[in-house]
Amino acid sequence: MSPVEVVLRGARALLGDPRDRKIEAVDIRIAGGVISEIGAGLDAGHAEVVDYSGCWIIPGFVDAHQHVWQAVLRGRLADLPHEESEAVVRDLVAHAVAPADVYAGAYGGAIAMLDAGITCTFDHCDAVATVEHGRAAVHGLHDAGIRGVWGYGFDSAGSEAGPEQRLDDARRLKSLIDGYPLLSFGVVPYADDDPERFAAQIALGAETDAAILTHTDARRRGEGPADSETWLKAGLVSARHVHAFCSATPASVFGEFARLGCSVVSTPDIELGGGLGYTALHQADDAGVNTALGTGSQAVSSPDMFATMRLGMQSERMRYQQAAAVTRGTSGISRITLRTEEMLHFATLGGARALGLGDVCGSIEVGKAADLVVIRPASPRLAPLVDPMVSIVMHMGVADIDAVLVGGEFRKKNGALTGDAAVRAMNELDAAHARIASAVSGRMKEVSV
Ligand SMILES: [Zn+2]
Repeated sequence: MSPVEVVLRGARALLGDPRDRKIEAVDIRIAGGVISEIGAGLDAGHAEVVDYSGCWIIPGFVDAHQHVWQAVLRGRLADLPHEESEAVVRDLVAHAVAPADVYAGAYGGAIAMLDAGITCTFDHCDAVATVEHGRAAVHGLHDAGIRGVWGYGFDSAGSEAGPEQRLDDARRLKSLIDGYPLLSFGVVPYADDDPERFAAQIALGAETDAAILTHTDARRRGEGPADSETWLKAGLVSARHVHAFCSATPASVFGEFARLGCSVVSTPDIELGGGLGYTALHQADDAGVNTALGTGSQAVSSPDMFATMRLGMQSERMRYQQAAAVTRGTSGISRITLRTEEMLHFATLGGARALGLGDVCGSIEVGKAADLVVIRPASPRLAPLVDPMVSIVMHMGVADIDAVLVGGEFRKKNGALTGDAAVRAMNELDAAHARIASAVSGRMKEVSV
């Protein structure tokens, strides 16, 4: 446990909404896990003082769409189209993934995220074949010490329970989560399910006051309306709804999303790499929708928000450059689409708001949880440090992270994960991958070792 009060001394901190580009040399006092005071030359009193002279402090990243347990399949889905990846995961969950494997993935995956400065996530858990699987996933996140929403995935394969039973299972898991201060309950309705069941899953979100995440319009179903249009018409979209992907969402829908106060989360590695299309980042943001970023799945890529911000930004710039080239017959563009501070906003405060945690984390402000990332710019890669906002997005990386705090407690310090987290996570992940590989015994070449 950390001492009751800590003062982080001497760093320059990114304060408030990253979009405001407000960076100041300040001390940060943390009391009871919360930022209690921000100012120059704070009186330490009885607090422990940690000297971060020369460092930069930014809010912890919020990875607003992750399938954390899939860390046990690290990289195995990187070269598959998205649809095929989903089929592989469903087959594995139905036949080869035990609760212990889900625990290993949730714990190890969350530790990998903390190592990379991600302090909060929406975990879309699509491995809830039984309540025991769900319990294992929640325990994994709790033991890792990450903040976030754990989302019951109604898309989980392998369940023998009927629709009513699954709703009850989800309620039981919510009760478990209510006992863990860093975690809250979420619902992931299954867009491919029977419409009545889908509506009941959406209703569960309201009943349990949960954040709802759906894979929205990943693809169009033939000539008919997009899923988002159908859901809007049926009154199934609300402010608690986070729409992942939206690669095939009609332009007019984003205005409706903004009006209803819901959010969009883009995962550039999945949309671009898995063949879904461009991200919805610029369209959603431009329409006034709260917009967030996610890294998707560690079975595809690293939980690295620095890389994700860059990929998302440059692909959106390319998209609009391409449109300009078609319209005007030139490859030039008259203005840049999406700036670095906007990407940092999506990666922090935008994500926190999407998860319903906008008052809790996502920015450095008095009264918010001390979820912080300390960056030590001690590399020629970062010199001269001309514009820190640009450097955070374009030049810095996971290797520059010195410390990570969640609720004022150090999860990483002096460049290393605290306690035995690193070794334990690697052992858990290796063992679970070996068990799954053995369970499928070469039946599925994509995931066998
Ligand atoms: Zn998902």
